Amino acid sequence: MELRRRQLAELEEVIKELRGSLLAQVSRDVGAVRGLESALTRLAQGTYGVCIDCNGEIDFERLLAHPVALRCFDCQEARERTNSHLAEPKP
Ligand SMILES: [Zn+2]
Repeated sequence: MELRRRQLAELEEVIKELRGSLLAQVSRDVGAVRGLESALTRLAQGTYGVCIDCNGEIDFERLLAHPVALRCFDCQEARERTNSHLAEPKP
């Protein structure tokens, strides 16, 4: 009986770990969908591909690689240099 209780406790930990990892994945997926929805909204509004920091044009190649990019390469690099301690995910 004690063995069964320990096995169940172990399984509970496995289930909680799996749930945690799936919730993290769902959170990342929802974030990715929101980024794409935002890109589609900017496309519809005619502001897609315009850097939100310098209002310059974002290179086609950058948008192809990162369709949700909000900044041109230079502004994104500058932001990551100044905010490197925040570990912001790349848009
Ligand atoms: Zn820029």
